[in-house]
Amino acid sequence: MTTNKTHGLSMNCLFSVLCPGVPVRLSASTWCSGRVEIYYNNTWGTVCDDYWDLNNAKVVCKQLDCGAALSAPKEAIFGRRTGQIWLDDVRCSGSEASLAECQHRGFGTHNCKHSEDAGVVCSEGLTKPNISMNPVGEVTWGQNVDITCSISTQIQHSLPGNFILTKTSSSFRQNQTPSTNLAAFSINKVDFDYEGLYQCQFQTSVSGRDFSSPISDSVKLSVTVRLQQPSISVTSNTGVVLRPEGVEVTRGYDFLITCSISSHCPTGVFFLNLSGSNIIETKPAINHSATFNFPVAEYEHQGHYSCVYEVTWSTRKYTSTQSTLISVSIKLPLLLLVSLVAAWGLLLLLLVLLVDCLTCRRRQRARQPGALVMTPVTVRNHCEDEEDKDEGVCENIEPVDTRRKQKEQAGRVEEEESENNYVEAEEVFVTVDGNRPEENDESDYVDVTQPLAEQTVDIFGEHQNIYQKT
Ligand code: CA
Ligand code: CA
Repeated sequence: MTTNKTHGLSMNCLFSVLCPGVPVRLSASTWCSGRVEIYYNNTWGTVCDDYWDLNNAKVVCKQLDCGAALSAPKEAIFGRRTGQIWLDDVRCSGSEASLAECQHRGFGTHNCKHSEDAGVVCSEGLTKPNISMNPVGEVTWGQNVDITCSISTQIQHSLPGNFILTKTSSSFRQNQTPSTNLAAFSINKVDFDYEGLYQCQFQTSVSGRDFSSPISDSVKLSVTVRLQQPSISVTSNTGVVLRPEGVEVTRGYDFLITCSISSHCPTGVFFLNLSGSNIIETKPAINHSATFNFPVAEYEHQGHYSCVYEVTWSTRKYTSTQSTLISVSIKLPLLLLVSLVAAWGLLLLLLVLLVDCLTCRRRQRARQPGALVMTPVTVRNHCEDEEDKDEGVCENIEPVDTRRKQKEQAGRVEEEESENNYVEAEEVFVTVDGNRPEENDESDYVDVTQPLAEQTVDIFGEHQNIYQKT
């Protein structure tokens, strides 16, 4: 078929003498659509569009072996020619073998201009649409992509139809009926599922029959991932102190490290790294973040943390840059710290006291080496009578009356008090030989104002058998 249509001229009609009718050709870039021209009297001339319709186009398409007639455009859609206008007022039934067999005004008789040059679009004249993609090349995950399909304006002007965009090896299919000669398909927020080869096709329906253009070339949609730097933060219910140099966490408390990344990234996993150690924890991202829980802060958790995000698709891996480092230091609880300080202080105080006490005892021992501590006891004899007193064998002990001393100090000692200071010794005194003393003996009387301690000493100093008269 291609060979027969070389130069837009059917080989059967290359020479008018061999053809049942006049040779015909379509002057356009495609073989089976364009401006109709016939060869008569050794001259190529045009056909006027008066009464030009689809039946006329059928004859032309059949004569050129271009399939079914899809359109019979008028008004020089495929451009104006100059020179001869051969036919006017052509009326075909559609069954004629050539235009020359159809009714017309005769060769060269017309009332037309070249602005009325007639054209045809045959089914074989539907060429493959053009296809293009914007942006060109790899598309970043999450971006929008436009794929545009187009046909020639001549065909679009004369032939309503729609464009179909398909992806090879998938069920992807989109349809548009544009008012212009092109259709733009937008794919929003592409992900890996959109990767593949895309193709266009133009479809039209004429007299209840569907006709499709050849499938366009394909464009390849490739998705790449550009990961932003993830962010990192530390939180806790209690015990976290934010400082410019990092975060201070109280030992024993819980703390959480959260890694997050822009929502314009595909789903992946977070790695939590502790620099200077082999601790690497991995968690899948949920809503573009992951939280690493440390229920009990210990000193081993101290250090610089960072997050890295990674996306894996098939055999491809996309890894983000490392987040900023965040320093986590573990400190003692304040209460424990205060308790420890207090305990140490108390212990220190006790030590000082102990040392001081020991030093004192040593000094005391140094003053009285090996001596017993003797308490001097004054043994006093009670005067039995005035004679003894005079001879000095005894002494009449002035009673030590505390109250009297107080009174003396107050200057209120009274004379008559002396007699009252004496009571019957029978009540408080004891004999030195164990026998009951004679009643109403003068020796039975003792000054009770004397302190009890001295009485006791007196008793133990002179007498072995003691009983108290009651
Ligand atoms: Ca006309
Ligand atoms: Ca006319």
